[in-house]
Amino acid sequence: MGYNPSYAWRSIMGAREVVERGARWQIGNGEKVNILKDRWIPGNNGFKLLYGANNLKENARVCDLIDRDLGGWKKEVIREKFSQEEAKMIVSIPLSRIPTDDKIIWHFEKNGEYSFKTAYHATCAQKECLLPGPSSHSNQNLWQLIWRAPILNRQRNFLWCVAKNILPTRGNLLKKGISLDPVCPFCSAEIETMQHLLMDCVFAKQVLFASPLSYRIPANVGVNQWLQTVLSCCDDGYVQFICFCLYKIWDTRNLGVFQNKRCCPIAVASGAVECVQEFRRANPVNGKKASVTVRRLGETFPLDVHIAQVDAGITWNGEAVFGCLFKSHSLVFLLAASKKESIEVEASLAEMMAIRWCIQLAVELKLDKVVFQSDAQVVVDCINSIISIAVLEPLAAECRSLLSGVTFGSVIFIPRSCNSEAHNIVSLGKLYGSRTWLCNPPVIDSVVSGELPPLS
Ligand SMILES: [Zn+2]
Repeated sequence: MGYNPSYAWRSIMGAREVVERGARWQIGNGEKVNILKDRWIPGNNGFKLLYGANNLKENARVCDLIDRDLGGWKKEVIREKFSQEEAKMIVSIPLSRIPTDDKIIWHFEKNGEYSFKTAYHATCAQKECLLPGPSSHSNQNLWQLIWRAPILNRQRNFLWCVAKNILPTRGNLLKKGISLDPVCPFCSAEIETMQHLLMDCVFAKQVLFASPLSYRIPANVGVNQWLQTVLSCCDDGYVQFICFCLYKIWDTRNLGVFQNKRCCPIAVASGAVECVQEFRRANPVNGKKASVTVRRLGETFPLDVHIAQVDAGITWNGEAVFGCLFKSHSLVFLLAASKKESIEVEASLAEMMAIRWCIQLAVELKLDKVVFQSDAQVVVDCINSIISIAVLEPLAAECRSLLSGVTFGSVIFIPRSCNSEAHNIVSLGKLYGSRTWLCNPPVIDSVVSGELPPLS
């Protein structure tokens, strides 16, 4: 920069920093992306490799880690070269089996394309962080952000109480003259204040880090400034994860203190994940209620069509489980299968991978007329090119390509209540891992309540 940087130039530099913070590579064939220097790991802060790699040339490219013939990651090589944690993040990045280029996407925008709006909000949030203390202006902004956040009312109320600092923390009770030990009962390291229990306490840090975002709570920032930054993010999923986690942290601490119930941070994080998934199912994107497109069989589909129901789930330790079942047009059971993969992916990606797997199964079974039913509306819309979500697009394209290879193939949305059989297969998959059933599989209630049925 020159000796007298103009205001405009400084704004551009500021925006560039923001763009760089939010932009990352989406892996296609991996040829353009440098393993050590580029930003390509979605789970990491800053999207870069944090723990380095064994025996890797400085200019090594991500394509060196991809098995082109099999269309997947070279898992052995990756396990050998990277830390356990980052190896898992890498093999969890979905690869499409149809060749695509690497692409820079804007991580915080749903369709992955950088937009001025998002960058503007991110810049504003960043500026707010630099303000010396909470001013009435920034508080005004915070109330609005809390009011508009895509979360449940009880979480909205909770955040409002946090921002006002009116929750009965031990620090606040002490200030009111109630005599008690004000030290945090979870870590005994500091006085239990709002700032401590949501940001500084090791329990809060563990919960947010155990969430699918592997989020690290920023240091040297006040609670209100942090909330403002989080709520300014345009990625609803990100905002929801953090808000649901914070609410769960408060809830769990109360259970711990008043009912002596202890809960491990991973369980708290996965509880929050389940709440977010539940919430997102009930409140589809853009607030519009799901335009349910349940078509009647026989009306628009060939008469000899098969039906495949598919679902995905995440186990308690974060592994992805897929389940599907095939039926004839007259609803005679043909086959059910489950698959457990030791990868960590976000829920909609897991649903997308489950659909891809189910289509591949249909191709292997030589079923050439199939209607695939899923309860993941966003994923179905993505495959049908109704919406575009950058992280889902490569696999959506692969699904479309697989579908074009069969005589008749269609992916449709069905409500969750109609997909309970596939959901049951996922539950079985969580217990048994990958397997196939050639006659009606057991229903999970009987499995959980009684003996496990024989696995023959
Ligand atoms: Zn603590």
